[in-house]
Amino acid sequence: MYNSKPLLMFRHCDDNLNTFVLNLPQFCPLCGDDLESAATFKVPLFKVPNPLSDGHQNPFRIVIKPTAGNFMDNYTTEKNLHIGVTDSKGDVFHFNKNGLNRSTSSPFQSPSLSPSSPSTSEWNSCLAMMMCDQWGEERYKDNEYNCYTFVLSFLTELRLSNYLPTINSKEKFCEEFIYKNLIKCLNYISIIKEIEKNNYFINKKLT
Ligand SMILES: [Zn+2]
Repeated sequence: MYNSKPLLMFRHCDDNLNTFVLNLPQFCPLCGDDLESAATFKVPLFKVPNPLSDGHQNPFRIVIKPTAGNFMDNYTTEKNLHIGVTDSKGDVFHFNKNGLNRSTSSPFQSPSLSPSSPSTSEWNSCLAMMMCDQWGEERYKDNEYNCYTFVLSFLTELRLSNYLPTINSKEKFCEEFIYKNLIKCLNYISIIKEIEKNNYFINKKLT
């Protein structure tokens, strides 16, 4: 799991170019000015939010991970994803061929669902109830009754369909919710990998 320094971004001399780094360099890669004495930045250095933060640190979230491996080292888009839900302590509840599991350490990342949902008070009790019924290993089927079935059932049980209408359809939920977050993760990873090659990465600002 990526656990390194935070990704930093700034714009120094060109308003249209973002420079990403893990450490602030002494000199601007674009104009060569000494950044330590630079009086002005077009956009001052700031920490880019990390979509790959550890799911266990984030209670009341939906979290995803590659079914095998992790996003940073070996994920490619044709690989399957595994999805779970964190409770108030950050323990991840997830359904697989072993049935419904409660995990404190596996590398779930990309927390995505806001904790400000209206139902956090029932969140833990709903998970506890689901640990007790219908989620045994004998029910698991790779393509039909899997980790998505569990998460969507959980969100439905919490009556979140007004808040998250896409939970009525696995396809819509994946499109609207999983893939958008996945793209954020993959963009973040590609920037980190570029920085590992050159110490910085420059791209055009999104308009
Ligand atoms: Zn510059």
